[in-house]
Amino acid sequence: MPSKVCFVNARVDRFDYPCSVEGRLERILKKIDLKKYFSEDELVPIKMHLGNPGAHHTIRPNFVRLVVDQLKKIKAKPFVTDSVRLRAYEYLDAANRTGYNAMSLDAPVIIADGIFGLDSVKVKAGRILKELSIPSAIHDATSMMVLSHVKGHIDTGLAGAIKNLAMGCVTAVPRGCDWKEGGRGKMHFQMDEVMTWHEDLCTFCGICVRTCPLDAISIKGKSFLVDDKKCWRCGRCVRVCPEKALTVPQSVKRFSVSLAEAAKTVLSTFEKKKVFYVNFLFDIQPECDCMAVSDTPVVQDQGILLSDDVVAIDQASLDLIAKAQGLPQSKAAELKRKRYADILGALHEKDSRVQIKAAEKMGLGKSDYRLVEA
Ligand code: SF4
Ligand code: SF4
Repeated sequence: MPSKVCFVNARVDRFDYPCSVEGRLERILKKIDLKKYFSEDELVPIKMHLGNPGAHHTIRPNFVRLVVDQLKKIKAKPFVTDSVRLRAYEYLDAANRTGYNAMSLDAPVIIADGIFGLDSVKVKAGRILKELSIPSAIHDATSMMVLSHVKGHIDTGLAGAIKNLAMGCVTAVPRGCDWKEGGRGKMHFQMDEVMTWHEDLCTFCGICVRTCPLDAISIKGKSFLVDDKKCWRCGRCVRVCPEKALTVPQSVKRFSVSLAEAAKTVLSTFEKKKVFYVNFLFDIQPECDCMAVSDTPVVQDQGILLSDDVVAIDQASLDLIAKAQGLPQSKAAELKRKRYADILGALHEKDSRVQIKAAEKMGLGKSDYRLVEA
């Protein structure tokens, strides 16, 4: 039987709150019966990306508040969370500036691996990653609500719920360890690989220095240094370098499959049907929210998808985007055609389906789904 994916279309036809996206999201959340997934008094992490200075295309706080309200109506105890992306103190400030705080969301906003980003539990992973460290507030939770802003990603094409589970629910550097025992670095840099600096291409523009969340890069005169002890292999410097002067040997397939493996590892800490997903297809920009900028959307807003199947919801996201036309005045306009089966993949010369197929093969869900419009 296909998995059920509920859909709130971004288009509205009447100027009446029940017809608004918020109104229909509220209605569908009531209809889904969240009690099937979450219990009274259960502490429920609402896992999301909390923003980044310069990146303004994240999930709008009013939608997050709506999810919090519905969880509170069934007497669950939601809290909004993410693992460290920037150092935790700065990340909480970025979240606050984006509008994610206890006052606006009516729920605590906490960092899942603690203010030092060191609180995590090691969990056995699979063939590629071997072992991952899961932030304590996610590992110890008995259920989870995963809110994902769907957009592009340089290494995978589509970034949706699978990526949010995989990259977002692992710790960068666990207590007393280095990045090799975390998780995110292992996916980005694939074990022992190191970044290469190409002196002949570098213009010493300093963008990588400004982008590094850990101040691990320093440029002195014509010398370029990376502090190996500080660097947690997030790969941002590689992505932002306009001259391609920083490179990491990357196997695209291995990266996407390792995402599926990490998602499976995170889900192994929950009982079945205790994780629910909401994908927001608004401001579908070319790159990840970890970047210090937001670009114009590459296709029009599509709406919101809801499901308890992570594979089905990402497949449905990809399919909705495939039906949309590339927008003028966006990165999509640089492509030759208007329609693509995988426009986010085409923008980055990647195949977004690899992670979805790998996740399905690992038993995380079904790509066969039934769309139910709210
Ligand atoms: S961003 Fe690239 S070109 Fe600029 S300083 Fe860094 S390595 Fe050099
Ligand atoms: S990969 Fe680059 S940006 Fe990330 S921590 Fe290391 S030096 Fe900084």
